[in-house]
Amino acid sequence: MLRRTKQREVILRVLRTTNSHPTVDWIYDEVRKEIPHISLGTVYRNLKLLQEGGKILEIDLSGAFSRFDGNPDNHYHFRCEKCGRVFDVDEPVNTELDERIARKMGFDVLYHRIEFRGLCKECQKGS
Ligand code: ZN
Ligand code: MN
Repeated sequence: MLRRTKQREVILRVLRTTNSHPTVDWIYDEVRKEIPHISLGTVYRNLKLLQEGGKILEIDLSGAFSRFDGNPDNHYHFRCEKCGRVFDVDEPVNTELDERIARKMGFDVLYHRIEFRGLCKECQKGS
């Protein structure tokens, strides 16, 4: 369906133009600027499809609101405990850790996620 493909393209484009790791509500507001009558359910459904297709990441650690990431490659994040913002961490993913855990546990480790927690620069100043 052409229309459905278009919707998914817009959602993906919106997500790739930000590095703020937005929530679904933010994505919904942005997408509505281009597709005014799109429903929240449609946005949810497309985000799920994009995630299953390996086009985006869903960051859903610690039961917080799901955040979405237009960069599908595994990478680490930092989440500010005060303002809730999520930042990319410029640090290579430690694949040696996967191998070590695989050997130790006898499991087939596909990847690991790390989320660092603390205060961002702005929140350090404000406190
Ligand atoms: Zn902060
Ligand atoms: Mn990220």
